[in-house]
Amino acid sequence: MRKLILTASALALSVAIAQPSLADVTIDDIVNDATTTSDVVTNGLGTQGQRFSPLDKVNTENVGKLVPAWTMSLGGEKMRGQETQPLVKDGVMYITGSYSRAWAIDATTGEEIWQYDARLPEGILPCCDVINRGGALIGDKFIFGTLDAKLVALDAKTGKVVWKQKIDDYKKGYSFSAAPLIVPSEKHGPLLVTGVSGGEFGIIGRVEARKADTGEMVWSRPTVEGHMGMLNGKPSTMTGKKNESWPGDLWKTGGAATWLGGTYDHETKSILIGTGNPAPWNSHMRPGDNKWSCSRLAIDPETGEIKWGFQTTPNDGWDYDGVNEVVSFDLNGTKAAATADRNGFFYVLNRENGKFIRGVPFVEKITWAKGLDDNGRPIYDPANRPGDPTKSKDGKKGSSVFTVPSFLGGKNWMPISYSPETKLFYVPSNEWGMDLWNEPVTYKAGAAYLGAGFTIKPIFDDHIGALKAIDPATGKIVWTMKNNAPLWGGVLSTGGGLVFTGTPEGYLMALDAKTGKELWKFNTGSGIVGSPITWEQDGEQMVSVVSGWGGAVPLWGGEVAKTVAHLNQGGMVWTFRIPK
Ligand code: CA
Ligand code: CA
Repeated sequence: MRKLILTASALALSVAIAQPSLADVTIDDIVNDATTTSDVVTNGLGTQGQRFSPLDKVNTENVGKLVPAWTMSLGGEKMRGQETQPLVKDGVMYITGSYSRAWAIDATTGEEIWQYDARLPEGILPCCDVINRGGALIGDKFIFGTLDAKLVALDAKTGKVVWKQKIDDYKKGYSFSAAPLIVPSEKHGPLLVTGVSGGEFGIIGRVEARKADTGEMVWSRPTVEGHMGMLNGKPSTMTGKKNESWPGDLWKTGGAATWLGGTYDHETKSILIGTGNPAPWNSHMRPGDNKWSCSRLAIDPETGEIKWGFQTTPNDGWDYDGVNEVVSFDLNGTKAAATADRNGFFYVLNRENGKFIRGVPFVEKITWAKGLDDNGRPIYDPANRPGDPTKSKDGKKGSSVFTVPSFLGGKNWMPISYSPETKLFYVPSNEWGMDLWNEPVTYKAGAAYLGAGFTIKPIFDDHIGALKAIDPATGKIVWTMKNNAPLWGGVLSTGGGLVFTGTPEGYLMALDAKTGKELWKFNTGSGIVGSPITWEQDGEQMVSVVSGWGGAVPLWGGEVAKTVAHLNQGGMVWTFRIPK
């Protein structure tokens, strides 16, 4: 009904009066999102990415009474991994789904308002399922990225395309699936900040800022040393110094994809973003630290200049992408940030200068490093790096090593949460290993550029997934919730003393934030690999998550993939409340 009305432009005025008023999302709404409980207008429930809501109407006492309020199907034949995080504003929910689709939904009834389908071309090259991790709201627009490497800005009221921009050539392996980040800028107005996916295809990682209103490029910052940045349509500065940490020519196809997007810290006015593996995986082909691959970068939104960098895995040989989100928090008066890396270490940094404060393993049995030194640099054990294939008898396969964690990581894309009330981080981790070996490889545009082979294997009988509560002040793991299948969904913590997360087995769960005790769970009918949110609507606290199994594990999980092969795919939005 509403859809029909919206397509009739002559009735637009009467529709605007009849509908709940949809106010523009301002840059102040974005910066203040963490504290305003009636809406969720950023990925991460606040640009700092804490994924904490102060709401306490649903709490440890009553969470057991939570029941579904409404559901909505993402329909069609396109039921695959749903890694989105919903946004909610003025009674409307905005989500993205598999195959680069987007919806606006009435947040009180679950009724669809509009759907947008990007209609992807043949030949897209997503590495890790046809997922999307969510959109951004700014002004009167909902903006998201597509698997054919485009950005699409839709009219939030109608779903009609306002502008479209190409990020790069999907035939070369570029794609985009992260939620874009909206960042305030004094000089340029609200900026849309995005990265690129394609680290397994030898693309060049970069961070880009566009005017949110028009999509016009403001700056671009490559994340591989030796490449030139752009500002206002002109070359700006080179990233690092050519050949300083990356001798030879392989930096020209050096990877370091910024595929997970970033967070924004308004206190230090920094975009905090991570970078993926250097390409190819075979580290013997590219001696040196290979900056800024496998790193966290702080970038000035006004200029696109790098303020500081912290490299977690120099000369990475294990595909330990350092893209994991950087979450700003207060550490006893220090402006700190924490991040849980694919390499299995949890890092606490000073977000003013990138200085290392502490790092601790958050998964067990790590093999690839003996530990971290005083500056947070890994202490390598050369015996645990996969061997150089040119030194093997036939020159085709280097010596194989068994490595923990597997390349899918101690933690992969799924976002952590920080509760300023418990002062704990909640990290969805996975404990698994892999056989890994190197092979010769040459770069060819649009072809996988790994130079490695692998098989992922479990390392414990009773679990792979493990949600861990970590005290950033001590590095201690306070509690662990083990899960049979690998965890692949995001985490939410609340002022009600709760931690919400989903499992591939289909459960949305609520745990006691202090103890990890399970207080409530509900099976959504397909695996959860998305991120839950909560907000207040008509005096009630609502909880939502999108369910739909998929992502990288079924595609790349080796022996682990077999153990989750029975899980059914799906695509449903589930919204819960406590009945009055
Ligand atoms: Ca809010
Ligand atoms: Ca990678």
